[in-house]
Amino acid sequence: MFSFIIVLIFNKLVHNSKYTIIGKFDMQTKDFIDLEEKHGAHNYNPLDVVIERGKGVWVFDVEGNKYLDCLAAYSAVNQGHCHPRIINALKTQAERITLTSRAFRNDQLPFLLKELSDLTGYEMALPMNSGAEAVETALKAARKWGHKIKGIDAQSGDIIACDNNFAGRTITTISFSTEEQYKDGFGPFTPGFKVIPYGNADALEKIIDKNTIAFLVEPIQGEGGVVVPPSGYLQKCYDICKRNNVLFIADEIQTGLGRTGKLFAHQYDNIKPDMVIIGKALSGGCYPVSAVLSSKEILGVFNPGDHGSTFGGNPLAAAVARESLKVLIEEKLIENSRDLGEYLLDKLLKIKSKHIKEVRGRGLFIGIELFPEAKGARRFCKALMKRGILCKETHDNVIRIAPPLVITKAEVDDALLIIKDVLLMD
Ligand SMILES: *Cc1c(COP(=O)(O)O)cnc(C)c1O
Repeated sequence: MFSFIIVLIFNKLVHNSKYTIIGKFDMQTKDFIDLEEKHGAHNYNPLDVVIERGKGVWVFDVEGNKYLDCLAAYSAVNQGHCHPRIINALKTQAERITLTSRAFRNDQLPFLLKELSDLTGYEMALPMNSGAEAVETALKAARKWGHKIKGIDAQSGDIIACDNNFAGRTITTISFSTEEQYKDGFGPFTPGFKVIPYGNADALEKIIDKNTIAFLVEPIQGEGGVVVPPSGYLQKCYDICKRNNVLFIADEIQTGLGRTGKLFAHQYDNIKPDMVIIGKALSGGCYPVSAVLSSKEILGVFNPGDHGSTFGGNPLAAAVARESLKVLIEEKLIENSRDLGEYLLDKLLKIKSKHIKEVRGRGLFIGIELFPEAKGARRFCKALMKRGILCKETHDNVIRIAPPLVITKAEVDDALLIIKDVLLMD
Protein backbone atom coordinates (compact mmCIF):
# COMPACT_ATOMS: atom_id res chain seq x y z
CA MET A 1 0.00 0.00 0.00
CA PHE A 2 2.80 2.36 0.95
CA SER A 3 4.72 1.78 -2.28
CA PHE A 4 1.47 2.16 -4.18
CA ILE A 5 1.07 5.68 -2.81
CA ILE A 6 4.69 6.52 -3.61
CA VAL A 7 4.15 5.45 -7.19
CA LEU A 8 1.01 7.56 -7.41
CA ILE A 9 2.87 10.61 -6.09
CA PHE A 10 5.78 9.97 -8.42
CA ASN A 11 3.42 9.62 -11.36
CA LYS A 12 1.90 12.97 -10.44
CA LEU A 13 5.32 14.64 -10.24
CA VAL A 14 6.49 13.51 -13.63
CA HIS A 15 3.08 13.58 -15.22
CA ASN A 16 3.81 16.48 -17.50
CA SER A 17 7.22 15.34 -18.64
CA LYS A 18 7.71 12.82 -21.41
CA TYR A 19 9.24 10.35 -19.01
CA THR A 20 6.52 8.71 -16.95
CA ILE A 21 6.80 5.98 -14.40
CA ILE A 22 3.82 3.71 -14.60
CA GLY A 23 2.57 1.96 -11.49
CA LYS A 24 2.51 -1.70 -12.31
CA PHE A 25 -0.06 -2.21 -9.57
CA ASP A 26 -3.05 -1.41 -11.74
CA MET A 27 -1.79 -3.37 -14.72
CA GLN A 28 -3.23 -6.60 -16.09
CA THR A 29 -1.57 -9.07 -18.43
CA LYS A 30 -2.94 -7.25 -21.44
CA ASP A 31 -1.52 -3.90 -20.31
CA PHE A 32 2.00 -5.33 -20.04
CA ILE A 33 1.65 -6.86 -23.48
CA ASP A 34 0.33 -3.65 -25.05
CA LEU A 35 3.16 -1.63 -23.55
CA GLU A 36 5.78 -4.07 -24.81
CA GLU A 37 4.23 -4.29 -28.27
CA LYS A 38 4.07 -0.51 -28.55
CA HIS A 39 7.66 0.24 -27.54
CA GLY A 40 9.60 -2.94 -28.29
CA ALA A 41 10.75 -4.37 -31.61
CA HIS A 42 8.57 -7.32 -32.58
CA ASN A 43 11.35 -9.85 -33.05
CA TYR A 44 9.59 -12.47 -30.89
CA ASN A 45 6.12 -13.97 -30.78
CA PRO A 46 5.78 -14.98 -27.12
CA LEU A 47 2.85 -16.75 -25.50
CA ASP A 48 0.58 -14.29 -23.71
CA VAL A 49 1.85 -14.92 -20.21
CA VAL A 50 3.63 -12.21 -18.22
CA ILE A 51 5.94 -13.79 -15.68
CA GLU A 52 6.94 -11.89 -12.57
CA ARG A 53 8.81 -14.45 -10.50
CA GLY A 54 10.07 -18.01 -10.43
CA LYS A 55 11.38 -20.65 -8.07
CA GLY A 56 12.85 -23.97 -9.14
CA VAL A 57 10.66 -25.47 -11.87
CA TRP A 58 7.82 -23.02 -11.19
CA VAL A 59 7.07 -19.55 -12.55
CA PHE A 60 4.27 -17.19 -11.54
CA ASP A 61 2.53 -14.62 -13.73
CA VAL A 62 1.38 -11.12 -12.77
CA GLU A 63 -2.08 -12.46 -11.96
CA GLY A 64 -0.72 -14.99 -9.51
CA ASN A 65 -1.13 -18.07 -11.74
CA LYS A 66 1.47 -20.79 -11.33
CA TYR A 67 3.08 -22.70 -14.21
CA LEU A 68 5.51 -25.56 -14.59
CA ASP A 69 8.27 -24.23 -16.84
CA CYS A 70 8.95 -26.85 -19.51
CA LEU A 71 11.24 -24.65 -21.60
CA ALA A 72 13.68 -23.55 -18.90
CA ALA A 73 14.70 -20.55 -21.02
CA TYR A 74 15.96 -22.78 -23.83
CA SER A 75 17.90 -24.81 -21.23
CA ALA A 76 19.62 -21.82 -19.63
CA VAL A 77 17.82 -22.53 -16.36
CA ASN A 78 18.91 -26.15 -15.90
CA GLN A 79 19.55 -25.45 -12.21
CA GLY A 80 16.01 -24.08 -11.73
CA HIS A 81 14.80 -20.50 -11.43
CA CYS A 82 16.53 -18.30 -8.86
CA HIS A 83 18.53 -21.12 -7.36
CA PRO A 84 19.33 -19.85 -3.84
CA ARG A 85 23.01 -20.80 -4.03
CA ILE A 86 23.52 -19.12 -7.39
CA ILE A 87 21.58 -16.02 -6.32
CA ASN A 88 23.69 -15.88 -3.20
CA ALA A 89 26.91 -16.09 -5.24
CA LEU A 90 25.56 -13.35 -7.51
CA LYS A 91 24.71 -11.06 -4.60
CA THR A 92 27.96 -11.69 -2.75
CA GLN A 93 30.07 -11.03 -5.81
CA ALA A 94 27.95 -8.02 -6.85
CA GLU A 95 28.81 -6.39 -3.54
CA ARG A 96 32.54 -7.04 -4.01
CA ILE A 97 33.22 -6.16 -7.66
CA THR A 98 31.32 -6.73 -10.91
CA LEU A 99 33.51 -5.65 -13.79
CA THR A 100 37.21 -5.02 -14.15
CA SER A 101 37.51 -5.51 -17.91
CA ARG A 102 40.35 -7.74 -18.92
CA ALA A 103 42.73 -4.82 -18.98
CA PHE A 104 43.25 -6.01 -15.41
CA ARG A 105 42.94 -9.41 -13.81
CA ASN A 106 40.29 -10.43 -11.30
CA ASP A 107 40.25 -13.00 -8.53
CA GLN A 108 37.31 -15.07 -9.86
CA LEU A 109 38.18 -15.85 -13.47
CA PRO A 110 41.25 -18.02 -12.71
CA PHE A 111 39.10 -20.28 -10.50
CA LEU A 112 36.37 -20.58 -13.13
CA LEU A 113 38.94 -21.54 -15.77
CA LYS A 114 40.55 -24.11 -13.48
CA GLU A 115 37.20 -25.58 -12.42
CA LEU A 116 36.02 -25.79 -16.03
CA SER A 117 39.22 -27.58 -16.93
CA ASP A 118 38.91 -30.05 -14.04
CA LEU A 119 35.28 -30.74 -14.84
CA THR A 120 35.54 -31.11 -18.62
CA GLY A 121 39.09 -32.28 -19.23
CA TYR A 122 39.84 -29.39 -21.58
CA GLU A 123 43.06 -27.57 -20.88
CA MET A 124 41.87 -24.07 -21.63
CA ALA A 125 38.74 -21.95 -21.93
CA LEU A 126 37.92 -18.58 -23.41
CA PRO A 127 34.99 -16.85 -21.68
CA MET A 128 32.42 -14.74 -23.51
CA ASN A 129 28.84 -13.67 -22.77
CA SER A 130 26.17 -14.85 -25.19
CA GLY A 131 26.15 -18.16 -27.01
CA ALA A 132 26.42 -16.53 -30.43
CA GLU A 133 29.58 -14.74 -29.32
CA ALA A 134 31.09 -18.02 -28.16
CA VAL A 135 30.28 -19.59 -31.55
CA GLU A 136 31.94 -16.62 -33.26
CA THR A 137 34.93 -17.08 -30.98
CA ALA A 138 35.22 -20.77 -31.87
CA LEU A 139 34.97 -19.94 -35.56
CA LYS A 140 37.70 -17.31 -35.24
CA ALA A 141 39.94 -19.74 -33.34
CA ALA A 142 39.31 -22.41 -35.97
CA ARG A 143 40.06 -20.07 -38.85
CA LYS A 144 43.26 -18.84 -37.28
CA TRP A 145 44.30 -22.41 -36.53
CA GLY A 146 43.54 -23.28 -40.17
CA HIS A 147 45.67 -20.47 -41.52
CA LYS A 148 48.54 -20.42 -39.05
CA ILE A 149 48.86 -24.08 -38.10
CA LYS A 150 47.21 -26.20 -40.78
CA GLY A 151 48.66 -23.88 -43.43
CA ILE A 152 45.56 -23.04 -45.46
CA ASP A 153 46.20 -19.82 -47.36
CA ALA A 154 44.72 -16.64 -45.92
CA GLN A 155 42.07 -16.10 -48.61
CA SER A 156 40.49 -19.54 -48.45
CA GLY A 157 39.41 -22.06 -45.84
CA ASP A 158 35.95 -23.53 -45.24
CA ILE A 159 33.98 -24.44 -42.19
CA ILE A 160 31.34 -27.14 -42.67
CA ALA A 161 27.99 -26.82 -40.92
CA CYS A 162 24.78 -28.88 -41.12
CA ASP A 163 21.38 -27.97 -42.48
CA ASN A 164 18.69 -27.19 -39.91
CA ASN A 165 21.41 -25.83 -37.58
CA PHE A 166 21.10 -23.08 -35.03
CA ALA A 167 24.17 -21.16 -33.93
CA GLY A 168 22.83 -17.75 -32.97
CA ARG A 169 21.64 -14.56 -34.61
CA THR A 170 24.76 -12.64 -35.59
CA ILE A 171 25.52 -12.03 -39.27
CA THR A 172 28.12 -14.81 -39.34
CA THR A 173 26.02 -17.38 -37.47
CA ILE A 174 23.05 -16.78 -39.79
CA SER A 175 25.34 -16.95 -42.81
CA PHE A 176 25.27 -20.76 -42.64
CA SER A 177 21.66 -21.07 -41.48
CA THR A 178 19.23 -22.91 -43.74
CA GLU A 179 16.21 -21.26 -42.16
CA GLU A 180 15.02 -18.80 -44.78
CA GLN A 181 13.47 -16.38 -42.32
CA TYR A 182 16.70 -16.09 -40.32
CA LYS A 183 18.45 -14.74 -43.42
CA ASP A 184 15.75 -12.88 -45.32
CA GLY A 185 16.81 -9.26 -45.68
CA PHE A 186 20.03 -9.59 -43.71
CA GLY A 187 22.58 -10.19 -46.44
CA PRO A 188 25.29 -10.01 -47.64
CA PHE A 189 26.59 -12.92 -45.63
CA THR A 190 29.95 -14.10 -44.33
CA PRO A 191 31.65 -16.39 -46.84
CA GLY A 192 33.63 -19.51 -45.98
CA PHE A 193 30.84 -21.89 -44.96
CA LYS A 194 29.51 -25.04 -46.59
CA VAL A 195 26.36 -26.80 -45.49
CA ILE A 196 25.72 -30.56 -45.59
CA PRO A 197 22.74 -32.64 -44.46
CA TYR A 198 22.60 -33.33 -40.70
CA GLY A 199 22.96 -36.96 -39.72
CA ASN A 200 24.83 -38.00 -42.87
CA ALA A 201 28.51 -38.77 -42.22
CA ASP A 202 29.17 -39.68 -45.87
CA ALA A 203 28.26 -36.13 -46.86
CA LEU A 204 31.01 -34.88 -44.56
CA GLU A 205 33.54 -37.31 -46.02
CA LYS A 206 32.65 -36.16 -49.54
CA ILE A 207 32.81 -32.43 -48.99
CA ILE A 208 36.14 -32.29 -47.13
CA ASP A 209 39.08 -31.06 -49.20
CA LYS A 210 42.46 -29.52 -48.49
CA ASN A 211 40.82 -26.20 -47.62
CA THR A 212 38.53 -27.59 -44.94
CA ILE A 213 39.24 -26.10 -41.53
CA ALA A 214 36.50 -27.40 -39.28
CA PHE A 215 33.17 -29.15 -38.87
CA LEU A 216 30.66 -27.40 -36.58
CA VAL A 217 27.81 -29.55 -35.27
CA GLU A 218 25.14 -29.73 -32.56
CA PRO A 219 25.14 -33.22 -30.99
CA ILE A 220 21.34 -32.92 -30.92
CA GLN A 221 19.75 -30.07 -32.86
CA GLY A 222 17.76 -28.01 -30.38
CA GLU A 223 16.10 -25.17 -32.26
CA GLY A 224 15.92 -27.46 -35.27
CA GLY A 225 13.29 -29.47 -33.38
CA VAL A 226 15.19 -31.72 -30.93
CA VAL A 227 16.63 -33.76 -33.79
CA VAL A 228 18.64 -36.75 -32.56
CA PRO A 229 21.07 -37.97 -35.25
CA PRO A 230 21.45 -41.68 -36.09
CA SER A 231 23.46 -43.56 -33.51
CA GLY A 232 27.20 -43.50 -34.22
CA TYR A 233 26.91 -40.38 -36.37
CA LEU A 234 29.10 -38.14 -34.23
CA GLN A 235 31.66 -40.91 -33.83
CA LYS A 236 31.89 -41.36 -37.61
CA CYS A 237 32.17 -37.62 -38.23
CA TYR A 238 34.81 -37.36 -35.55
CA ASP A 239 36.91 -40.12 -37.20
CA ILE A 240 36.56 -38.43 -40.59
CA CYS A 241 37.74 -35.14 -39.09
CA LYS A 242 40.72 -36.79 -37.40
CA ARG A 243 41.81 -38.53 -40.62
CA ASN A 244 41.68 -35.24 -42.51
CA ASN A 245 43.17 -32.92 -39.89
CA VAL A 246 39.86 -31.06 -39.66
CA LEU A 247 38.70 -29.61 -36.33
CA PHE A 248 35.57 -31.08 -34.79
CA ILE A 249 33.59 -28.36 -33.00
CA ALA A 250 30.59 -29.35 -30.86
CA ASP A 251 28.04 -26.63 -30.21
CA GLU A 252 26.79 -27.75 -26.79
CA ILE A 253 25.24 -24.42 -25.85
CA GLN A 254 21.81 -26.02 -25.49
CA THR A 255 22.67 -29.73 -25.13
CA GLY A 256 25.56 -29.29 -22.71
CA LEU A 257 25.75 -29.10 -18.92
CA GLY A 258 23.45 -31.98 -18.14
CA ARG A 259 20.51 -31.31 -20.40
CA THR A 260 20.72 -34.66 -22.20
CA GLY A 261 21.64 -36.78 -19.17
CA LYS A 262 25.39 -36.48 -19.53
CA LEU A 263 27.64 -33.50 -18.92
CA PHE A 264 27.90 -33.19 -22.72
CA ALA A 265 25.70 -34.84 -25.33
CA HIS A 266 28.74 -35.82 -27.42
CA GLN A 267 29.80 -38.18 -24.61
CA TYR A 268 27.12 -40.60 -25.81
CA ASP A 269 29.43 -41.14 -28.81
CA ASN A 270 32.62 -41.45 -26.75
CA ILE A 271 34.41 -38.67 -28.57
CA LYS A 272 36.42 -35.67 -27.44
CA PRO A 273 35.75 -32.75 -29.79
CA ASP A 274 38.60 -30.34 -30.49
CA MET A 275 36.39 -27.51 -29.27
CA VAL A 276 33.22 -27.46 -27.21
CA ILE A 277 31.05 -24.36 -27.05
CA ILE A 278 28.95 -23.81 -23.92
CA GLY A 279 26.64 -21.06 -22.70
CA LYS A 280 23.06 -20.95 -21.46
CA ALA A 281 23.11 -23.10 -18.26
CA LEU A 282 26.70 -22.08 -17.53
CA SER A 283 25.15 -19.33 -15.42
CA GLY A 284 21.99 -21.12 -14.31
CA GLY A 285 20.09 -18.40 -16.12
CA CYS A 286 21.35 -15.69 -13.78
CA TYR A 287 23.68 -13.85 -16.12
CA PRO A 288 24.92 -14.23 -19.72
CA VAL A 289 28.04 -16.42 -19.59
CA SER A 290 29.46 -18.55 -22.39
CA ALA A 291 32.80 -20.14 -23.16
CA VAL A 292 34.84 -22.05 -25.70
CA LEU A 293 36.65 -25.08 -24.28
CA SER A 294 39.67 -26.41 -26.11
CA SER A 295 43.34 -27.30 -26.07
CA LYS A 296 46.39 -25.13 -25.65
CA GLU A 297 47.26 -25.77 -29.28
CA ILE A 298 43.99 -24.35 -30.57
CA LEU A 299 43.17 -21.55 -28.11
CA GLY A 300 46.89 -20.77 -28.15
CA VAL A 301 46.41 -19.16 -31.57
CA PHE A 302 45.03 -16.08 -29.84
CA ASN A 303 47.59 -13.43 -28.98
CA PRO A 304 46.89 -10.35 -26.86
CA GLY A 305 44.71 -8.02 -28.93
CA ASP A 306 43.41 -10.71 -31.32
CA HIS A 307 40.02 -11.07 -29.71
CA GLY A 308 38.08 -9.93 -26.67
CA SER A 309 34.95 -8.63 -25.02
CA THR A 310 34.44 -5.92 -22.40
CA PHE A 311 32.24 -8.15 -20.26
CA GLY A 312 33.74 -11.55 -21.15
CA GLY A 313 35.29 -13.19 -18.10
CA ASN A 314 34.13 -10.53 -15.67
CA PRO A 315 34.22 -11.42 -11.97
CA LEU A 316 30.43 -11.39 -11.54
CA ALA A 317 30.02 -13.80 -14.47
CA ALA A 318 32.83 -15.99 -13.20
CA ALA A 319 31.44 -16.19 -9.66
CA VAL A 320 27.95 -17.01 -10.96
CA ALA A 321 29.27 -19.64 -13.39
CA ARG A 322 31.41 -21.28 -10.69
CA GLU A 323 28.42 -21.70 -8.40
CA SER A 324 26.19 -22.85 -11.28
CA LEU A 325 28.62 -25.64 -12.13
CA LYS A 326 28.89 -26.66 -8.48
CA VAL A 327 25.10 -26.85 -8.16
CA LEU A 328 24.89 -28.94 -11.32
CA ILE A 329 27.35 -31.49 -9.94
CA GLU A 330 26.59 -31.45 -6.22
CA GLU A 331 22.82 -31.69 -6.66
CA LYS A 332 23.30 -34.54 -9.15
CA LEU A 333 21.23 -32.75 -11.77
CA ILE A 334 22.90 -34.61 -14.64
CA GLU A 335 21.86 -37.94 -13.13
CA ASN A 336 18.36 -36.61 -12.51
CA SER A 337 18.14 -35.52 -16.14
CA ARG A 338 19.20 -38.99 -17.28
CA ASP A 339 16.82 -40.89 -14.99
CA LEU A 340 13.71 -38.71 -15.22
CA GLY A 341 14.38 -38.10 -18.91
CA GLU A 342 14.30 -41.82 -19.58
CA TYR A 343 11.14 -42.15 -17.48
CA LEU A 344 9.38 -39.22 -19.17
CA LEU A 345 10.34 -40.33 -22.68
CA ASP A 346 9.03 -43.82 -21.98
CA LYS A 347 5.70 -42.46 -20.72
CA LEU A 348 5.34 -40.04 -23.62
CA LEU A 349 6.03 -42.83 -26.11
CA LYS A 350 3.04 -44.68 -24.65
CA ILE A 351 0.57 -41.86 -25.32
CA LYS A 352 -1.67 -42.88 -28.17
CA SER A 353 -2.62 -39.63 -29.89
CA LYS A 354 -3.53 -39.24 -33.55
CA HIS A 355 -1.47 -36.02 -33.58
CA ILE A 356 1.89 -37.53 -32.60
CA LYS A 357 4.30 -38.37 -35.41
CA GLU A 358 7.34 -39.03 -33.24
CA VAL A 359 8.61 -38.60 -29.70
CA ARG A 360 12.38 -38.38 -29.36
CA GLY A 361 15.10 -37.05 -27.12
CA ARG A 362 17.77 -37.75 -24.57
CA GLY A 363 17.63 -36.91 -20.89
CA LEU A 364 15.18 -34.13 -20.14
CA PHE A 365 15.51 -32.85 -23.71
CA ILE A 366 12.47 -34.19 -25.51
CA GLY A 367 10.66 -33.24 -28.68
CA ILE A 368 7.12 -34.30 -29.56
CA GLU A 369 6.74 -33.96 -33.32
CA LEU A 370 3.18 -33.62 -34.54
CA PHE A 371 1.72 -34.51 -37.92
CA PRO A 372 1.01 -31.55 -40.23
CA GLU A 373 -2.70 -32.38 -39.83
CA ALA A 374 -2.41 -31.42 -36.16
CA LYS A 375 -2.34 -27.81 -37.41
CA GLY A 376 0.77 -26.69 -35.58
CA ALA A 377 2.29 -27.15 -32.16
CA ARG A 378 1.41 -23.66 -30.99
CA ARG A 379 -2.24 -24.42 -30.27
CA PHE A 380 -1.09 -27.30 -28.07
CA CYS A 381 1.34 -24.99 -26.28
CA LYS A 382 -1.53 -22.56 -25.68
CA ALA A 383 -3.70 -25.37 -24.32
CA LEU A 384 -0.85 -26.51 -22.06
CA MET A 385 -0.46 -22.95 -20.82
CA LYS A 386 -4.13 -22.81 -19.84
CA ARG A 387 -3.51 -25.98 -17.83
CA GLY A 388 -0.40 -24.59 -16.11
CA ILE A 389 2.47 -25.87 -18.25
CA LEU A 390 4.70 -23.58 -20.29
CA CYS A 391 6.14 -25.04 -23.50
CA LYS A 392 7.22 -23.35 -26.68
CA GLU A 393 6.80 -24.79 -30.12
CA THR A 394 9.88 -25.15 -32.23
CA HIS A 395 9.77 -25.48 -36.01
CA ASP A 396 5.96 -25.20 -36.09
CA ASN A 397 5.34 -28.91 -35.50
CA VAL A 398 7.46 -29.80 -32.48
CA ILE A 399 6.62 -29.35 -28.81
CA ARG A 400 9.85 -29.23 -26.84
CA ILE A 401 9.76 -30.55 -23.28
CA ALA A 402 12.84 -29.40 -21.39
CA PRO A 403 12.08 -28.49 -17.78
CA PRO A 404 14.73 -27.37 -15.27
CA LEU A 405 16.77 -30.39 -14.23
CA VAL A 406 15.69 -29.96 -10.59
CA ILE A 407 12.27 -31.38 -11.44
CA THR A 408 11.04 -34.28 -9.27
CA LYS A 409 9.35 -37.51 -10.30
CA ALA A 410 6.08 -36.38 -8.71
CA GLU A 411 6.19 -33.17 -10.78
CA VAL A 412 6.90 -35.18 -13.93
CA ASP A 413 3.91 -37.40 -13.16
CA ASP A 414 1.61 -34.40 -12.64
CA ALA A 415 2.82 -32.86 -15.89
CA LEU A 416 2.31 -36.13 -17.76
CA LEU A 417 -1.40 -36.21 -16.91
CA ILE A 418 -1.88 -32.76 -18.40
CA ILE A 419 0.35 -33.34 -21.43
CA LYS A 420 -1.55 -36.53 -22.19
CA ASP A 421 -4.89 -34.76 -21.89
CA VAL A 422 -3.80 -31.97 -24.19
CA LEU A 423 -2.38 -34.34 -26.79
CA LEU A 424 -5.68 -36.20 -26.84
CA MET A 425 -7.69 -33.07 -27.73
CA ASP A 426 -9.07 -32.78 -31.23
C1 LIG B 1 20.93 -20.79 -27.98
C2 LIG B 1 21.94 -21.33 -28.89
C3 LIG B 1 22.95 -20.53 -29.44
C4 LIG B 1 22.98 -19.03 -29.25
O1 LIG B 1 23.04 -18.62 -27.93
P1 LIG B 1 22.61 -17.12 -27.54
O2 LIG B 1 22.99 -17.00 -26.09
O3 LIG B 1 21.14 -17.01 -27.77
O4 LIG B 1 23.38 -16.21 -28.42
C5 LIG B 1 23.91 -21.14 -30.22
N1 LIG B 1 23.88 -22.46 -30.47
C6 LIG B 1 22.93 -23.26 -29.96
C7 LIG B 1 22.96 -24.73 -30.25
C8 LIG B 1 21.91 -22.73 -29.18
O5 LIG B 1 20.94 -23.52 -28.71
